[in-house]
Amino acid sequence: MGARVRLEDKVLELIQGDITEQDTEAIVNAANERLIPGGGVDGAIHRKGGPSIAEEARKIGRCPTGQAVVTGAGRLKARYVIHAVGPIYRDGKSGEADLLASAYRESLKRAAELKLSSVAFPSLSTGAYGYPLEEAAPIALGTILSFLRENPLPRLVRMVLWGDRAYQAYLQALRDLAAREGLQVEEF
Ligand code: ADP
Repeated sequence: MGARVRLEDKVLELIQGDITEQDTEAIVNAANERLIPGGGVDGAIHRKGGPSIAEEARKIGRCPTGQAVVTGAGRLKARYVIHAVGPIYRDGKSGEADLLASAYRESLKRAAELKLSSVAFPSLSTGAYGYPLEEAAPIALGTILSFLRENPLPRLVRMVLWGDRAYQAYLQALRDLAAREGLQVEEF
């Protein structure tokens, strides 16, 4: 089950699934500033990808909130893991929206620098970091769509949503965004 919008040769796609199973060239990790393996998406990526990811991350050291750094992907299908640090949600008035948009944008910049054509994201900050899904979804999708418009790569960005509630929140945000931008939502 999924949904997509097309922008010339680019695609922004939503699916319900597991980020660790994606065969895009890079997957994005919902990391923390210290780049130390945690729970949620991070735990799943390190468990399935093996210890090389944490070893490389340790050499990088830290990544400030709103930024993103790259490691290899160990045993995962992807070639790279882009570790993005989303904000911890406080009250919605502490710069969270800008930091969340920045985490997506910086991840996409890393993918473009590596000349990757495809990248998959989880819903950054909406787990342990407490960002409400309905607020995070339009920020995530709006930021990704702007980047796709302005840059030749990546050409495919897939949001991988864990569970039906997250998928429905993103589908609604995609419909709203597509309506504003005059784009069609294809469901598959
Ligand atoms: P954060 O600390 O940035 O909030 P989490 O990893 O706790 O990151 O959660 C981010 C989002 O990813 C949550 O909405 C969570 O439900 C979802 N999630 C958890 N496991 C997976 C997975 N294996 N694949 C995709 N999304 C996942």
